Amino acid sequence: MAKIIIVSNRLPVTVGNVIKKSPGGLVSALSGVSTNNTKMIWIGWAGTFSSNADNSAKLKETLIKDFDCYPVFLSKKEISDYYHGFSNACLWPALHYFSQHIHYSSMFWDSYVNINRKFAEYIAANAADDDLVWIHDYHLFLVPQMLRKIKPNIKIGFFLHTPFPSFEVFRCLPHREEILKGLLGSDLVGFHTYGYLRHFRRSCLRLLNIESDIAQILVDKRFCKLGVFPIGINSDQFLKELGTKRFIKRRNELKKAYANYKVVLSVERVDYTKGILRRLEAIEKFLFHHKHKLDVAFIFIGIPTRGEVKEYKELLGQIQKKVGEINSQYSNIEYTPIHFIHKTIPLSDLCALYSIADVAMITPLIDGMNLVAKEYLACKIDSTGVLLLSEFAGAAHELISAVLVNPYDIDNVTKNLENALLMDEAEKSQRLIPMRSHVIRYNANQWAQTFLKELKQSRKSIKKQNNNAKFISEKVLSSIKKAKKVAFFIDYDGTLREFEDTPDKAKPTKEILQIISALARHANYEVFIISGRKEADLEKWFKGLNVALISEHGYSILLPKSDKWQMINSHIDLSWKKKVIKILSQYVSTPQGTSIEEKKSSVVWHYRQADPEFGKWKSQQLLGNLLEILTNENVVVSQGNHIVEVSSSQINKGFAVRHFMQKNNYDLIVCAGDDKTDETMFQINDARIVSIKIGLDETFARYKIADPILFREFLLKFTKKENF
Ligand code: UDP
Repeated sequence: MAKIIIVSNRLPVTVGNVIKKSPGGLVSALSGVSTNNTKMIWIGWAGTFSSNADNSAKLKETLIKDFDCYPVFLSKKEISDYYHGFSNACLWPALHYFSQHIHYSSMFWDSYVNINRKFAEYIAANAADDDLVWIHDYHLFLVPQMLRKIKPNIKIGFFLHTPFPSFEVFRCLPHREEILKGLLGSDLVGFHTYGYLRHFRRSCLRLLNIESDIAQILVDKRFCKLGVFPIGINSDQFLKELGTKRFIKRRNELKKAYANYKVVLSVERVDYTKGILRRLEAIEKFLFHHKHKLDVAFIFIGIPTRGEVKEYKELLGQIQKKVGEINSQYSNIEYTPIHFIHKTIPLSDLCALYSIADVAMITPLIDGMNLVAKEYLACKIDSTGVLLLSEFAGAAHELISAVLVNPYDIDNVTKNLENALLMDEAEKSQRLIPMRSHVIRYNANQWAQTFLKELKQSRKSIKKQNNNAKFISEKVLSSIKKAKKVAFFIDYDGTLREFEDTPDKAKPTKEILQIISALARHANYEVFIISGRKEADLEKWFKGLNVALISEHGYSILLPKSDKWQMINSHIDLSWKKKVIKILSQYVSTPQGTSIEEKKSSVVWHYRQADPEFGKWKSQQLLGNLLEILTNENVVVSQGNHIVEVSSSQINKGFAVRHFMQKNNYDLIVCAGDDKTDETMFQINDARIVSIKIGLDETFARYKIADPILFREFLLKFTKKENF
């Protein structure tokens, strides 16, 4: 029976004298996921330290047997370095735009790598190939790639519960490339908002030079899908609580206690991301404006958190000091404006507070989602109350009829708080009712089901891709077996060989030379390397291998055993080159990292080393400029892989292939290439042609092979005697 394996830093249990299930958000979100056909197990740290092997073994047995929880055992030192250190003092601030709070040490990182590996190995030991593995959050960024190495066929999902910051902030992180690569080991990576997804793609582009589209990234011959899955609350648990006697009792007690006041409620962990100090400033301003009529009680539930990290200790002290200052300024015998409670509170108290609060004031400086905002809405049975929400909380993307504020604009927060307190009942319910039904409908369970459904489907496209390459080679092999004379027209860069930063680095590898010479040795084959490269490059690399070399997209040819390059078409007009070089020169100073290459029949503008986005944008401008100026010239302006090329319209690879097809009686012609210049070969209308695009973009080619690695594997098959 296939399993769902949930992996998170902590197991959903509390281990004491007895073991209790902890009712965290994720636990309830996943409660409806396991069915008769799918078992669910959980992998994570049990939250205890034990130096006694017998005790650990016993604990493990009970956790597995009674709770389906598979514990990863960690020492105090490991928790200190991997959890408090790298996860909470380095990753957490970076993911939340607090780069000034990043504390890094190589010891933290080493521990993070080791623990991630420990998790990956433990998952692998407990997983079958048809299981679904769902990894949660930033503590385990490296696990997807590590697990993929051990179990290449297993489906791996990852969900990030925090924001993913913009590239400019993410790049501050030490080991940022390893982190991205770790995540890309997944089949599906989920984020709360589209903005976080966009930032992730941008970091992959800028740091790993991997392009992507909104829905997926092609990496290592497979797709890593991307998706937006805003997490919901466990609405059933809240709705159930609202029906209990203890809730009704607490609600009545609190209503009575605050009968003379309007209640403004904030609930959060005492974390610097939550904007508590700035909120206190806004409240101080509010109290100053209303000092003659003090009838608003501010209740702050500050959930204790991460006391081991320096910034958290300092923050708590600063909050307590500020609350003290405000209270001493604005209290009177009957009234204290701010009730700061630094404790967790029972669910019935929390629901009672949510239900009586006139305003929920939730103003994080940044927050992955913010569940408190959604819980507040769920508890508003009487449809009254106002949600004052920071526009920097992930929840703001969904809760669009909240009063949205910029938490950095203190005056504006104060003003919106005043408006919220004065809002008429009709407007309150008009705003609240649709938001409330949204949070009840799109709840945590729905979130988990949607993610898992997408994860299940993720591999389909990958299989199709892999099968495709196999299918093509079988098809072509069966035609080649019947043919007496076969021509191969093979492009070089991006087809036989992967791109490098600079063209001169992309020399043929030993493997490429072996494949090409093996092909060339075959009695039935004629091999042409047909490239945009200059004569000198091709000659330097391939001369002596018994292959014909076609340079500059069909400008000239060097036949095997000949020493003289010949023009394929000797009546070509190249008078336009000077004009083109002048235009291209204007595009070399900006963006930086661009260059001009002059060839015999073309001129090329390269932008591979420029900023990828700026380079691409400039290339569009250049294309427009060239097309306008060169309308009456015998030229073709084309865009290739990080290049813009102006070449003679009397030359192209298609003309060259036709030229040799007319001269020879080929039974079969295999044309392969990766960019637009190769499409002229693919467009030749002749049943003998087998056209193959390397890459997955739109093409005239009959077949597609994802990348040069697969293409080389494909070519290799035609050199093997056992295949004939
Ligand atoms: N919460 C809690 N103890 C309390 C009060 C609230 O655990 O005393 C819960 C609250 O119900 C919410 C969670 O803490 O589900 C806070 O989640 P949120 O997404 O708002 O912020 P995070 O802590 O994940 O940054």
